[in-house]
Amino acid sequence: MGGFKLFSHKGTTKSPAMAGDLGNEKMKFEVIINAIEDGVMLIDLEHTIQLFNPGASRITGWKVEDAAGVDVSAVIKLVDSKNQPYSDDQNPLMKVFKTGQSVRDNNAYLTNRSGKQIPVSVNVSPLVDNATVSAVVAVFRDVGEERAEEQRRADFISTASHEMRTPVAAIEGYLALALNAKVATIDNRARDYLEKAHSSTQHLGQLFQDLLTSAKAEDGRLSSHPVVVELGAFLEQLSNDLKFAAEKKGLFAEFVIGSSHNIDASQGGERVVRPLYYAFVDGDRMREVVTNLFDNAVKYTESGKVSIGLTGDDKVVQFYVRDTGPGIPAEDVPHLFQKFYRVDNSATRTIGGTGLGLFICRKIVELYDGRIWVESEVGKGSSFFINFPRLNAKQAADKQAQEAGNAELQPINSLASS
Ligand code: ADP
Repeated sequence: MGGFKLFSHKGTTKSPAMAGDLGNEKMKFEVIINAIEDGVMLIDLEHTIQLFNPGASRITGWKVEDAAGVDVSAVIKLVDSKNQPYSDDQNPLMKVFKTGQSVRDNNAYLTNRSGKQIPVSVNVSPLVDNATVSAVVAVFRDVGEERAEEQRRADFISTASHEMRTPVAAIEGYLALALNAKVATIDNRARDYLEKAHSSTQHLGQLFQDLLTSAKAEDGRLSSHPVVVELGAFLEQLSNDLKFAAEKKGLFAEFVIGSSHNIDASQGGERVVRPLYYAFVDGDRMREVVTNLFDNAVKYTESGKVSIGLTGDDKVVQFYVRDTGPGIPAEDVPHLFQKFYRVDNSATRTIGGTGLGLFICRKIVELYDGRIWVESEVGKGSSFFINFPRLNAKQAADKQAQEAGNAELQPINSLASS
């Protein structure tokens, strides 16, 4: 953008530039700007449109000569996916004037001159003169076709995985019957084959389930009924349910509450006076997240211990799942919560998985304004942390009274209801 000069809108539409005129710099510029399919605008410090190309005209429905010289807020009306107008804080044009930094927004909708909403991607860059913003250039593109395509892809994955779960469940059921000595007689070799087929079928069933959940998470269709949950009691109960999987593999399992107090999960939990950690979350979804992290910890850890812990301060509830497993290389950590990402090592080559579990965990955690991340050291182990905003006792009681008022009475520890 270095050599870009403010360009008056006057005259830009009067003389269509011909290829023969290309020796003239201004003509070249006009030919390019007019040929660009995307909408291109130049907006000055008073927020007046100084340049408006035919691409912008096609998308907004404003004629070039009508838009030029007009305040940009009259021409570019951005709304979000819920049809709510953008506030100045959300509006990429205003943000650039304020911050002097380029802004990209791929989720906006533009209300055109006849009131139709067009999905657009907007990219706004500042023109900086002596370290101050002198104008901004906005480029916007109609992404209706791309978004429809994305939606069709998501719908296909969702329908296909939904439809395929049923036959896979039937195969799994029949294989389980064949392996059941009370109903079928098979020799040892057949048992060996069927056990392998059974475990692969379970894996396939899990893959379809994960695909379905991640497709739903991506387009915001994940069902969620948040209530006030006291995470201490919730996690203690859940740890008791989960510990068997760890013990079966010879791993020690523990539930740690507060910064230092250990509760031996194998004894069913020690009763102590402890802080109450309230958060506004869906208990079933939380169970999904913790189970997923715990299963991973058990799956990837050969020996040692797996801990579930809970701590927090007055603003935040933090829980974690920690293991003494192989750890995760630093270069993989930034990608871990992306869809289908698996660390490429001998463990993941032999241990089955879909690479969707952590992506789903992140999507669920974000539903409740939470954050999930990992701290790990190769050869020592990994700790997956989750933070949620913490409700104090009064906020928890108020919200519960509200829930009761909504005739959706849920016990404070939502485990009791599931
Ligand atoms: P997967 O189905 O492969 O387990 P996830 O999304 O749950 O998918 O995890 C993504 C990748 O992160 C895994 O393939 C594994 O490489 C790595 N990973 C997850 N949890 C752990 C852990 N506790 N220890 C070591 N590596 C882990």
